[in-house]
Amino acid sequence: MQNQTSPLPAEIARRRTFAIIAHPDAGKTTLTEKFLLFGGAIQMAGQVRAKGEARRTRSDFMKMEQDRGISVSASAMSFDFGQFRFNLVDTPGHSDFSEDTYRTLTAVDAAVMVIDGAKGVESQTRKLFEVCRLRDLPILTFCNKMDREARDTFEIIDEIQENLAIDVSPASWPIGSGRDFLGCYDLLHDRLELMDRADRNRVAETVSISGLDDPKLAEHIPTDMLKKLREEIEMARELMPAFDRERFLEGSMTPIWFGSAINSFGVKELMTGIGEFGPEPQPQKAAERMVPAGEGKVAGFVFKVQANMDARHRDRVAFIRLASGHFERGMKLIHVRSKKPMAVTNPVLFLAADRELAEEAWAGDIIGIPNHGQLRIGDALTEGEMLHFTGIPSFAPELLQNIRAGDPMKAKHLEKALMQFAEEGAAKVFKPSIGSGFIVGVVGALQFEVLASRIEVEYGLPVRLESSQFTSARWVSGDKDAVEAFVSANKQHIATDNDGDLVFLTRLQWDIDRVARDYPKVSLTATKEMM
Ligand code: GDP
Repeated sequence: MQNQTSPLPAEIARRRTFAIIAHPDAGKTTLTEKFLLFGGAIQMAGQVRAKGEARRTRSDFMKMEQDRGISVSASAMSFDFGQFRFNLVDTPGHSDFSEDTYRTLTAVDAAVMVIDGAKGVESQTRKLFEVCRLRDLPILTFCNKMDREARDTFEIIDEIQENLAIDVSPASWPIGSGRDFLGCYDLLHDRLELMDRADRNRVAETVSISGLDDPKLAEHIPTDMLKKLREEIEMARELMPAFDRERFLEGSMTPIWFGSAINSFGVKELMTGIGEFGPEPQPQKAAERMVPAGEGKVAGFVFKVQANMDARHRDRVAFIRLASGHFERGMKLIHVRSKKPMAVTNPVLFLAADRELAEEAWAGDIIGIPNHGQLRIGDALTEGEMLHFTGIPSFAPELLQNIRAGDPMKAKHLEKALMQFAEEGAAKVFKPSIGSGFIVGVVGALQFEVLASRIEVEYGLPVRLESSQFTSARWVSGDKDAVEAFVSANKQHIATDNDGDLVFLTRLQWDIDRVARDYPKVSLTATKEMM
């Protein structure tokens, strides 16, 4: 729609890079699968199910983690839909991995929020929504499972508006729900979309009509339901704001579609919305300046690192969001942190289930670069300019434990393994300034188990985790002399993280407040920018 007026090169303007946010069970996996189906990336529904199912239990989760192929290829998926190229970046569904999710959201330009029509806005939806809001990400809403008994449409919309403080504009309106769900009235195009219950992979039948007064409606909708539909839409048009693309793009309005992912219903309409409303690849913020997507030179940043994807060789894949330019395979880029050149000869593009060698990529795309550990989260790759992309957060862990090698002789090996996991972002690793040993910090308890299991499986190193005397970690910054005075007076609380940055460990909020009082020139923060 806006491509005629876009100042971006056509290849960039057609890109849509987004993530799906949802509370577990709302239907994210099912929707992803239908996206891939309609994007021609898979032939049959059921191929990405393994991922959704695998997440259900802890042991299954571990199995999935060991079978790295599945989760990795699903980390970023590219496919075409009409004139558009979609890059769907997967967010880990488990709440224990929220930090990963936050970072993923720094790599996208928009998010699709899936809610369950019977449950409305749930806890995880709200959390993820707040992260999107911090970045003013445009959000498209999909109200799923309308084939089941759902809440009243007005009630759902009200709940989103009130709970998330965002204006909601209906793009479609459901006709009945549960067993009586017939389909939707498309408010944007004045069309009737009818769900096919017989074949779940079939796209809905579209009936063109000339508006709500069209007598053709009566051929498809029973009289009482039609009467209700007309009343509801009249009311909705009166009470709810019409869709305003500018407000959507600034993140203050979300269009909502109703559908049933499992029945492939409403999905194409949502995809059309993503394509038409956008946004196209957005400028990315670096400490030095904004980097517009249409800029000639290639620049990108690492937002995720996945280590040990292949047990036979210790490779890792760094996931890069291209911020600008046209990348071609074999290009020599500068790794900004080390200032060293890096020939990118075997980049990977994620086409649904298969990894494929990327011959080229454009701003907005996600490419994977296999490497031996040079690339870390937050790193920039450019054609020479020293850019530092900002906004990729690292969060203070909420749980801390001491970690030891089962065999004390293997302490050095443990250090190496820990550093690798820290770089991957799987855990924070702190080295206390007094004593030996390490403290690991995570956001959710499950991460401890996954970490211990991966160290054992991938490094052959059994480890012991024990409770730590500390419960909180804060990064230390501020005036150099004040920091030095603070550090020497609090040695037993000081550690360094895996990047060598100073950290204050404590078990009491009172301690943190005391520092603020006693050392006004020192600041303790719960997040740190990775760059
Ligand atoms: P996720 O946890 O958000 O990835 O959710 P899934 O896609 O795995 O779906 C959770 C459950 O809801 C699965 O059993 C799906 O089969 C089911 N489901 C997904 N979409 C629909 C739908 O439109 N209607 C119904 N009735 N069930 C659905």
